[in-house]
Parts: sequence; C-alpha cells; structure tokens
Amino acid sequence: MALLSVEEALARILADAAPLGAERVAIEAAHDRILAEPVAARLTQPPFDASAMDGYAVRAADVAKLPAKLTVIGESAAGHPFNGRVGAGQAARIFTGAPVPDGADGIVIQEHTTREGAHVIVQGEDVQTDHIRPRGGDFKEGMRLLEAGRRLGPRELSLAASMGHGELAVWRRPKVAILSTGDELVRPGETPGVGQIVASNHLGVGAMLRNFGAEIIQLGIARDTAESLNEHVARAKDGDILVTIGGASVGDHDLVAPVLSKQGMELAFWKIAMRPGKPLMSGRLGALRVVGLPGNPVSSLVCARVFVVPLVEQLAGRPMATEATRPAVAAVAIEANGPRQHYMRATLTRDGDGLPHVSPVRSQDSSLLSPLAIADCLIVRTPNSPAVAPGETVRVLPLDF
Ligand code: AMP
Ligand code: MG
Repeated sequence: MALLSVEEALARILADAAPLGAERVAIEAAHDRILAEPVAARLTQPPFDASAMDGYAVRAADVAKLPAKLTVIGESAAGHPFNGRVGAGQAARIFTGAPVPDGADGIVIQEHTTREGAHVIVQGEDVQTDHIRPRGGDFKEGMRLLEAGRRLGPRELSLAASMGHGELAVWRRPKVAILSTGDELVRPGETPGVGQIVASNHLGVGAMLRNFGAEIIQLGIARDTAESLNEHVARAKDGDILVTIGGASVGDHDLVAPVLSKQGMELAFWKIAMRPGKPLMSGRLGALRVVGLPGNPVSSLVCARVFVVPLVEQLAGRPMATEATRPAVAAVAIEANGPRQHYMRATLTRDGDGLPHVSPVRSQDSSLLSPLAIADCLIVRTPNSPAVAPGETVRVLPLDF
C-alpha cells in the first residue's frame, strides 16, 4: 500500500469538519470556550459620570483661585448616590466609584483638603479637578466588542460580564472518547503482572485534546477480542470522535479495524509517511469520527498532536494552531531525512534575543517516554530533506501545552 503524506492525511481528516453547533452557557462556566456569536454591550459603562478618587465633588470655577472655603452639603459613595445638587460655593464628599452629583463638574482629591465641620478648605498648588470617569468612557450600549471565534480568557470574560451578559453563546465542545486496546495493559496505579505493562497513552492524549477544547470520555481498556472491543466502542456512541490507541497495525491481535468495519465503519486510509507513527486509521461510524492511533507511546502522542488536535480545533470552532511550527537554529548537525516526515524529539535553548537553538534528544525510539518528557518540541523534517549543518534554520512544533 502506498504511503500517504501527512498533509494529505490531515486534509482528508479535516475535509468536512465544521463547528458542531452553538450552546448557551452561564458566563461562570464559559472560561476557555469559543464565542459562536459576536457580543455587543447591553449596558453603557460607566453608567454615570463617576469619581475616580476619594475627595470632594465641586464646581471647578469655585476652586480656580485657592484657598477656597466650600460648604459640604452631602455625601456620594459607591452604591449610595447623593441626590442633591451642588451649587456655587458648595461641595459634596465623594468616594471612588460614586456618581458625581448634579451641578458638580470636578473632583478635588482629599489630599488637597482640610475639613472644618460643615466646611471644607481647598488649598495647594496645581490642584487638578479632572478626576471624573465620564459616562460611556469604557463602552456604550450596542457596541460590538467581541467577535465570534474569540476564545474566552480572563479579559474577555470580564468584558462580557461588564457588558451585561450572564450567558454566552459558545461552540459546543467536541466529545472525544478514548479507548486503549491490548491484552497486556493494566490501569495506571495497578501493578503489572507477568508480560503486562501500564496503559499510559490515554492520559497524555486526553490531556492534550482537552487543552485544545475537547471534552474527554475515557472508555478504559478493551481486550484484544471482538467482544471486548464491541462492548467498549458501544459506549462511544454519544461522542463526536472515537480515538482508539493500539491494535491498528496488521498483527494477528490487531482487531480494531476489522471490528469497526464489521460495525459499518468506512476506513479512509492506513499508513502515513511519517516517523513516529506509520500505522494510523481514520473513518466514520455514522456521525462518529474515528481516529486510530498507534500504540507506541511517543507515536500516539505525536499522531494525536498532528492529526487529532486540528480535528478537535475545527469541531470546536477554534482558531487553528495547525500551522504552529516556528523557526529555530540547529545547535548540532542533523542527518539527511528519509522518505517519511520525521518528528524528532528535541529541546530548545534560548540565549539572547535571536531564534532559539534546538538539539534532538538522545533517543528517537518511539516506545520511550522519558526522552519525550525531556523534549519540549518536535523538529519537523520534511520527507527527503537534506542534512542540516549547525547554524541552519529548521522548523519546530512546540510541545509546551
Ligand atoms: P499495538 O499498536 O497494539 O501493537 O501496540 C504497540 C505498542 O504500544 C505495544 O508495545 C503496546 O504494548 C504499546 N501500547 C499499546 N497501547 C498502549 C497504551 N494505551 N499505553 C501504553 N502503551 C501502549
Ligand atoms: Mg496491541
């Protein structure tokens, strides 16, 4: 079977992927979600001319010449406006965030004042009175300040709340069901018996996809039997994506494809021209999209980053990080690449303002997790690219998410 390029495989996986649909959520639950609709202000902010300081609300003309003695006729505090009117020769005690009373057009900060019973003496040099936050100075009702597609981070949440929104329309999060397969696997924390190992990939893959907007359903470990696989896959029916790990090669115990085919899945392709992670499966089981990752720990994480993250992003309505490779300077020589796209585990070092330097880690074996944990990026070597000399620029895909 001819090998498929990474680009072609990704294009096929993404061919008909679009945001899943919008839902309204409470703003308290909207962190890290993606706006499905633009958000316009339902309020004007500030809703009134407000004092920016603690002091006295005055008529600026009354304090043009200092010292000045004014009669204090009331008090305006945040949440407790003064309803009277400040006339000539008068002042109102005022605090930060309080409405500026009618008649007043300036604030004298309290550091320039001395209180004498019912009066206040204003004195000093260069006394400014422009400590008023004008009504609508932040935004006015009807202004559209957040566009669809915007991720709701700290700044967006505060702004949307102050614009008067208790709920927001966001894209639904793709539900990704993750299934480990293998007779040799035990759950994390369990002690492996003879010939067994701990299943680990589902955790890394789940954490990665959650970071890019997915809701994760862990289906556990299916044994290498048709019954066990069928039983576990049945629980993925409510999901948008089923990610299987392992069992997707052509060995006697690689049953994922035959079992899913029997259930009616159309298999799109099998082998990708990439290292690590040649065997990969993609298909459709009704509305459920299926991606079968290789079982090797590094392969499964790299393939999840390269193929499943973009799919999750598209279904989640996220701005794509797919083209997230960046330039870096090779710190050492790197040998010519073969016919498959190679994702080399590597570490970045930053010294000074220029491009970071990058060195491949000791071992590129796709079954070893400890070198992957040392790595903080992947050097992306395109098929048949020539040897790289130290100082030449390469492209890297960061792993710091
Ligand atoms: P397979 O694709 O099923 O032949 O698996 C390839 C290799 O990955 C084997 O050494 C498996 O033991 C290992 N493997 C498969 N699934 C997992 C998993 N969920 N976590 C860790 N290792 C796995
Ligand atoms: Mg297996």
